[in-house]
Amino acid sequence: MPMYDFRCEECGETFSELRRSGDDKDVPCQHCGSTRTKKLISSFATRTAKTGSSCAPAGGG
Ligand SMILES: [Zn+2]
Repeated sequence: MPMYDFRCEECGETFSELRRSGDDKDVPCQHCGSTRTKKLISSFATRTAKTGSSCAPAGGG
């Protein structure tokens, strides 16, 4: 089962929960129990952008 990140709008805490694909039910907050939670974009879902040229090359200089 994929894990999704949720954010509670009541206490502002974030937590991860294992959810079935398609299950969009309200997930209770693990901190305060409120159901005012929103599903966030999973970190692994988004393609990790490789470090561009913004970072200077490391070297003993
Ligand atoms: Zn909460």
